[in-house]
Amino acid sequence: MPKNQRVHFADHRSRRVVYVSSCLLDQNRRYPGIAVGAGALRDLFLPLAENGIGVEQLPCLECLGWGGVSRTSSLRFMPTIFRYADSKLFPIVRGIVRIWLLRYRRLCKKVVKAIAIDMKNLVDNGYDIVGIIAMNDSPTCGVTKTIGIIDFVAKSKSMGLKLEDLTSPSFDKMKEVLPSLLVTGRGLFMTELLFALRRQAIVQRVFEFNPWNDIKTEAGRVVGEILQTR
Ligand code: SF4
Repeated sequence: MPKNQRVHFADHRSRRVVYVSSCLLDQNRRYPGIAVGAGALRDLFLPLAENGIGVEQLPCLECLGWGGVSRTSSLRFMPTIFRYADSKLFPIVRGIVRIWLLRYRRLCKKVVKAIAIDMKNLVDNGYDIVGIIAMNDSPTCGVTKTIGIIDFVAKSKSMGLKLEDLTSPSFDKMKEVLPSLLVTGRGLFMTELLFALRRQAIVQRVFEFNPWNDIKTEAGRVVGEILQTR
């Protein structure tokens, strides 16, 4: 077969796919204390399946770079940030955490390269990547809302949270405080991913999923927007 000729897929595939944050398909990946469901968010994925849209799971960068599903390396920083949050030594702590975050950004860039190659292959084969659905409350995957990791701890302390609330977070406490700790901005992985994809004009649409809204309503909104892009 000539190098540039496309394969004709003589089967039932739709050649329509959407990429999703890992934890939308598996809440078991979420940061400790903030899983809003048991596993896959079925209100989101059942309608996608019924409409013939394949689901591609992006990797969970925090699991790769923050010490796995329990995020041990990020939790290790918490007591130090918490302790010095309102002291003169805070700029030093901030500097140390920033170095850690720089290394994390490098990991994001490396992973993004492999994802972009895979997506490009789909597009070159006539696939329609309808977009990316990203978890919109994360310092990693947030699209329009994120969390400033250092400021998050300092702000939590000023709101009266205890260190244990951050090192052993419970769902009820996080549900109460986390939405108010979100800031406008984009997570590190999503920043790198969208930069790479838009440069290559691979994916144009990104749908943010706000997990602290009613899940059924939020899923309906996102699916509705995706189906409108047909
Ligand atoms: S938002 Fe991103 S980094 Fe956070 S758990 Fe989900 S997939 Fe992992």
